[in-house]
Amino acid sequence: MAIRIQAIRGMHDILPGQIHHWQRIEQAARGALDAYAYQELRTPIVELTDLFKRSIGEATDIVEKEMYSFADRNGDDLTLRPEGTASCVRAAIENGLLDQPRRFWYQGPMFRHERPQKGRYRQFHQIGVEVFGLEGPDIDQEVILLSRRIWRALGIEDLELQINTLGSSDERARYRARLVEYLRGRFEQLDEDSRRRLETNPLRILDSKNPTMAEVIAGAPVLTDDLGEDSRGHFERLCQGLGRAGVTFRVNPRLVRGLDYYNRSVFEWVSTALGAQGTVCAGGRYDGLVEQLGGSPTPAVGFALGMERLVALIAAQPETATGPSPHGYLITVGETAQVHGLAIAEQMRDALPGLRLWVHCGGGSFKSQFKKADRSGARYALVLGPDELAREAIGIKPLRSDEPQQTLPLSELTAYLAARVAAHPYP
Ligand code: ATP
Ligand code: MG
Repeated sequence: MAIRIQAIRGMHDILPGQIHHWQRIEQAARGALDAYAYQELRTPIVELTDLFKRSIGEATDIVEKEMYSFADRNGDDLTLRPEGTASCVRAAIENGLLDQPRRFWYQGPMFRHERPQKGRYRQFHQIGVEVFGLEGPDIDQEVILLSRRIWRALGIEDLELQINTLGSSDERARYRARLVEYLRGRFEQLDEDSRRRLETNPLRILDSKNPTMAEVIAGAPVLTDDLGEDSRGHFERLCQGLGRAGVTFRVNPRLVRGLDYYNRSVFEWVSTALGAQGTVCAGGRYDGLVEQLGGSPTPAVGFALGMERLVALIAAQPETATGPSPHGYLITVGETAQVHGLAIAEQMRDALPGLRLWVHCGGGSFKSQFKKADRSGARYALVLGPDELAREAIGIKPLRSDEPQQTLPLSELTAYLAARVAAHPYP
């Protein structure tokens, strides 16, 4: 017997039972992104390895041990993208798009060779935004509001927004020295990873998820004390702006991001319902990256949300567990009714964007069609037989409520369905 080939560990098929969650998130995100007029950017999934080394940073987990890198047939050193920001910056520079402020978004698969576990995969999917050319806290606030609009559209209410500031690179350098001094004094308490990072990337130690490190981290100095006037002002204005916009947040002075390029504002949206992998969205400012990758100095801010973690959250919502069922299921009895039925269904779809209508296909008795209508999860069976046709009417049988069954003049069907579509949108 042939050996069956399986999917790669940590990489998953998205099957019909799950796909509606993905579509719902994509739709909600698109709605929010359109409301702020962000423009979509699509970049290749493979880039030169150097792009990620130079942007994410040599001393990060991603570059040190998580990248899917390979030499192609020409011997070029390529990498499956582990995140989207570097590619966006490259594309924006390469195509001369940074001549004016730009608001971009992207979506797609990312690849990191991590240890697969709940909420952590080797191929995962992000939707992200990147804004170029704006340096004030007003745009930081905008991207946070945009992300909140996505959670709201999805009915997700219990995310905590954590924010922090990482200051400028000079301020971080000062802080780094203080932090290293503190950690050296507690070398015995550091785990292996942290001992290594002490030399290469000490700020990352604060991001450690190892519980044995919690105490050392809790006692560590905070960066806030090293901030100058400018950074302090920027962060205060962000906090004020968020407050005025009614956004609840918590300042978490130990929030650092795993990638090197961040400065000033950083933020995460965190759920307590997902266990250790609780961050569904993370972002911040990266004012130095464009220049670092060869463009002219251009401030930038962005975020990326993790689709798999959001799917896990909304899959747990009882009302969305089954996905979008049709509003109507059209049953036709007899050949003439079938022909008319198809035409009426087309008219309804033209008239009512958002209407989900199934037309029964494959014939069969009224009884067998009715059973299928019920099994489809549709809210209403619409019945068209010789009697209804003769009277220019349509029979309506509610399947999911105790509304009365009735026969409606065909001229009133659009209005009847419009009210039901409005009551049961999706998402
Ligand atoms: P974490 O601290 O959970 O490892 P990160 O800081 O590495 O996250 P980012 O690179 O900022 O994450 O990516 C943004 C978002 O993408 C994360 O908040 C998370 O929702 C999602 N994400 C990151 N890595 C993975 C992964 N391996 N599997 C699934 N989702 C991921
Ligand atoms: Mg990570």
